[in-house]
Amino acid sequence: MIACSVLASGSRGNSTYLRFRDHHFLIDCGLSCKAIEARLSAIGVEPAAIEGIFLTHEHTDHIQSIHTFSRRFGAPIYTTEATWRAAGLQDKKHEGLIPIVSGKVFSPAAGLDVFPCPVPHDAADPVGYIFHYEGIRISQVTDLGYVTELVACEVRGSRLLLVESNHDPQMLKMSQYPWELKQRIMSRRGHLSNQAAAELIEKAVTEETEQIILTHLSEENNLPDIALMTILQKLGKAVPAVSVASQREATPLISINATVRR
Ligand SMILES: [Zn+2]
Ligand SMILES: [Zn+2]
Repeated sequence: MIACSVLASGSRGNSTYLRFRDHHFLIDCGLSCKAIEARLSAIGVEPAAIEGIFLTHEHTDHIQSIHTFSRRFGAPIYTTEATWRAAGLQDKKHEGLIPIVSGKVFSPAAGLDVFPCPVPHDAADPVGYIFHYEGIRISQVTDLGYVTELVACEVRGSRLLLVESNHDPQMLKMSQYPWELKQRIMSRRGHLSNQAAAELIEKAVTEETEQIILTHLSEENNLPDIALMTILQKLGKAVPAVSVASQREATPLISINATVRR
């Protein structure tokens, strides 16, 4: 059984919980340790069960309590060397770092293959994660300025796809953000708009796809209804379940049956 809950998503903190049978993991740890513990407990997961944390990149909304959580619960951090240096983790005398290489598959548990997929973003060595378990593909790609061919190819056929749908371009243009920040968000090392997310999802969906969760929505420059509508309009009628992750609470735990469909 595979299970997933997005514990928090957005510029004030990101963390995703993933379970592959008896193996429990987090992607990122971007809230306080207390908040992560509370949100895990809301979905019935003991923090001590977490076996490892897959780090995407060093921005504060992804690493806030990673060091504390890792030490408190003995969960090692899977990270590329450039990311852990940029995150300042080398100064923490941390023994729980497991180096990974962007673009190179690693196996943190029996039967689980993880591909850290390089993404274009203004960080040292940012990655998304593609999980392969018992014939099923689960993908999370957030914090990317545009969709590379590799990303589009890797996420295609995901049973569960978590994808960034950061902003509505019109809302961003009209917002109070300083021009430099708007430029950064819209740049090729920034964040995906709803339209860009819709194009990626259209390419990614196959008959395997059951669930799509839109993540990292801007609280200033987007609305869940606008993001959802943009995606649903692009996909037409034959769509898998699409939902929106929240900054304020964990999404309900989604379960996926790990049997290969034919
Ligand atoms: Zn972020
Ligand atoms: Zn970022």
